[in-house]
Amino acid sequence: MSKQELISDIDILTEEQQQSEEACGVQVSEEENTGKNRKVYIESYGCQMNFSDSEIVSSIMKREGFDTTSDFSKADVVFLNTCSIREKAEQTVRNRLSQFNKVKEDRPEMMIGVLGCMAERLKDKLLEEEKIVDMVVGPDAYRDLPTLIKQVDDGNKAVNVFLSKEETYADISPVRLDSNGVSAFISIMRGCDNMCSFCVVPFTRGRERSRDPHSIVAEAKELFDKGYREVTLLGQNVDSYKWSSEENNKGRLERKEKKESDVSIVNFANLIEMVAKISPDLRVRFSTSHPKDITDEVLETMNKYENICNYIHLPAQSGNSRVLKLMNRTYDREWYIDRVDAIRRIIGDDCGISSDMIAGFCTETEEEHQDTLTLMDYVKYDFSYMFFYSERPGTLAAKKYEDDIPLKVKKRRLQEIIDKQREHSLERNKKAIGKVHKVLVEGTSKRSDEQLQGRNSENKVIIFPRGNQEKGQYVNVLVHDCTPATLFGEVVE
Ligand code: SAM
Ligand code: SF4
Repeated sequence: MSKQELISDIDILTEEQQQSEEACGVQVSEEENTGKNRKVYIESYGCQMNFSDSEIVSSIMKREGFDTTSDFSKADVVFLNTCSIREKAEQTVRNRLSQFNKVKEDRPEMMIGVLGCMAERLKDKLLEEEKIVDMVVGPDAYRDLPTLIKQVDDGNKAVNVFLSKEETYADISPVRLDSNGVSAFISIMRGCDNMCSFCVVPFTRGRERSRDPHSIVAEAKELFDKGYREVTLLGQNVDSYKWSSEENNKGRLERKEKKESDVSIVNFANLIEMVAKISPDLRVRFSTSHPKDITDEVLETMNKYENICNYIHLPAQSGNSRVLKLMNRTYDREWYIDRVDAIRRIIGDDCGISSDMIAGFCTETEEEHQDTLTLMDYVKYDFSYMFFYSERPGTLAAKKYEDDIPLKVKKRRLQEIIDKQREHSLERNKKAIGKVHKVLVEGTSKRSDEQLQGRNSENKVIIFPRGNQEKGQYVNVLVHDCTPATLFGEVVE
């Protein structure tokens, strides 16, 4: 199965999303031959967070004497780093396991491990349900991989799904997989303390903890020294980043703050400033911003540094306050609009804004669905990741509300959201025409070697004819045309 087939099997709905592959996709480890005696193949699903985790796994495996491979039939160990966010993501992994089964019939010594959210959600049940699986490893247990591999080498099955309150893998230097050598992702926190009722993440990734800012800055600096020119700081809710030298667990840190007035804290605005100061030539991006936590201080810091990109991923999920309450998002439509107004006031109309939307959440009426469409009309998102609601076992919504919107209705509402987004993406892209954009060159365009591709500060992909520009260089591009997904232009002085 090709990478493209795997992607379309997951849950992706629009051409724009297929191009970006950021929200949900699949990533495969690259071929590396440094003479180590065993090979690991890592296939990662889901969000960027998972792809970053695979880079940590790869680093741990390297130390254990493994090279990576891009061909699972050559691997001694095959890892599937999985996603549980929607049912279809899990189904894709199960289909994939049955394909691996055929290879394992010929090579019974090949070890198969399921990592990540699905491992955490299903625990040892996965060993019973999928006989081919030898190892089940949750997202906080990757340091234990050498021991778990040994257990399997000794003929046993191995499981570690312990969720930590402190683990951030701060000291592990990730091995970049599938990288263009220009942009990299840095994980700044793990877990999530929000309990959005539709979401499985708090159960699969545990409590929120923030990583030591000094290790984040050191990683970003090392990347810059190696020639990288863009870092994206990753977390489920980056704006709630909070760290002190004594405590990195957010819940415990907030209790400490209440008791002691002099706790010295690094917040998200402080962190992006620290990273931005590494060099004006290092672009800083981040994802995801929760509307309840994004502060004017963060927006003002973005405004202060030209190299902090003008782009915010601010998932609304719904435009209706009653539905947002059922989703337990802890903000309403007015609050969300106030945050968008603050972005426009402090950063300006050019700032790129994107969203995640869920169509057909439990009990959503046609009028409430219309509220999502009118919120989209108000914000005019540059881009959105759009899904229909998929009930996940164990979540608050699965326990409390009936999944009562028929699939046909969910799909129709989703299509209306997608159509609206397409209009807005085109409208927003048209505003870029006739302007000069500072573009960081990422490499050749996917369609032609004669074209280069990069992004502007607002995260829009710009394609332009190749000259003597190099990957990792900044160029000024005058945009003259666009589609809903891409801008086209030419280099100017
Ligand atoms: N932490 C991010 C936030 O709160 O915006 C979201 C992380 S989640 C991995 C990515 C997106 O998946 C969510 O924003 C939501 O739109 C979607 N999602 C999560 N659970 C879902 C479900 N049960 N059904 C459909 N979409 C879901
Ligand atoms: Fe899930 Fe909500 Fe946490 Fe995002 S903020 S990961 S949607 S619980």
